[in-house]
Amino acid sequence: MPSLRTHLRLQRMKLAWQSLFAPKPGGMILLYHRVQDVASDPWRMAVRPEDFDRQMAFLARLGTACTVSGLADHLARGATGAPRIAVSFDDGYLDNKEVALPILERHGVPASFYVTSGAIGRDDAFWWDRLHRILLEEPSLPRELELQLPSGRRFTGSLGSEAEAGQKLLTACRTWSADLQPAAGPRQRLLLALWEELAPLDPEARRRVVQDLDKWSGSRRPAQERPMRPDELREFARSALVEIGGHTRNHIDLSRAARDVAAREIADDRDDLRRMTGQELRSFALPFGRAGGDTAELIRQAGYTSATTSRFGRCAPGSSLLHLPRIQIGEMPFKQFQTMLRSAVPA
Ligand SMILES: [Zn+2]
Repeated sequence: MPSLRTHLRLQRMKLAWQSLFAPKPGGMILLYHRVQDVASDPWRMAVRPEDFDRQMAFLARLGTACTVSGLADHLARGATGAPRIAVSFDDGYLDNKEVALPILERHGVPASFYVTSGAIGRDDAFWWDRLHRILLEEPSLPRELELQLPSGRRFTGSLGSEAEAGQKLLTACRTWSADLQPAAGPRQRLLLALWEELAPLDPEARRRVVQDLDKWSGSRRPAQERPMRPDELREFARSALVEIGGHTRNHIDLSRAARDVAAREIADDRDDLRRMTGQELRSFALPFGRAGGDTAELIRQAGYTSATTSRFGRCAPGSSLLHLPRIQIGEMPFKQFQTMLRSAVPA
C-alpha cells in the first residue's frame, strides 16, 4: 500500500503521462545517466545496453533525433515542422563512452552529455552509487552505524534485523525505486537519511564521510561505475555525435548554494570542459534538477543558451530555454517508449 505522498506523486505522473501522448509542436528530451546492467538502481539511472540499443534504433527510424542545443535552436525558431527528440546523459560515467557511444554511432543518433568536470579522473566521485551499493547490495553489515559528520554532529542509524540480509530482502532492496516507492525497512530508510546528510557537504568533507562508511561496511565490492578520465573524455568528445554540456564542477545543489559559489562552480566546470574537450559549450544541466532563484541568470551569464532540469514533461514553443523539462527513461518498458515517441512525432 503506497503512502499518501507516493499515491499523489503517482497520480500526478499519470496525468503528466497522459499529456505526453498527443502530438504537439516542440519536442522532447530523454534523460539517461548510465547504460549498464546494474544490481541495484534506486534512482532509476541505468538502462540495459540491449534496451538502449532497441530504443535508439527506434528513435533513429523516426528521423528527428538531435542534440539538446539542436532542440533549443528549433524551439527558438518557433518550432515549426516535426517535433525533435533529444537524447541527454548526465554526470560523465565511463559507460557513456564505452557502451552508449558505440550504440549511438551504430544508429547515427547524436546526444548531449552533461559532465561534472571535478569527477573526471576520480574513481570515487559518485558517492550516491557507493551508498546504494553498500546498503542495498551487501548481505552482511554491522547492526549499528555511527558516523562523525564534518559539522561535529554524530549521525547514528540502526539496521536491526536487516543487518544480515537474506535473498528475499536483497531482492526487495535491489528492485526498490526510491523516488516511486516509500522506504520499506531500515536499509532503505538509512540510505535516504544518509543521502540527505551527504548531498549538501563539500566534496572533500563528503569523501571522508563516505570513506568512513566504506570502512564501517567492510565492503570489498570493486566500483562498477566510475567517471571518464581526462584522456577518455577528450577522445569521447571528438565524436561528431557528442555534444558536451556543463553540470557544475562538483555536482552541487544550486538551490542551496550561495550566489558566488554557484557562479564559480558553473564557470569552473565550463572552463575545465573547454580545456579538456576543445568544445565550445552551449547547454547546461542542473545537478539534481534543482535551481535557486538566480540560477537561470548565472547560467546565462556563463554563456549557456539552454539548460535542462529533471522536471517531467515535453518542450513546447515558448518554453523557457533555461528550464527545459526532460523524461527520465530508466527501465521504461519498450512498448511505452515506442508509444510515447510515436505519439510525439506523428508519421
Ligand atoms: Zn547529475
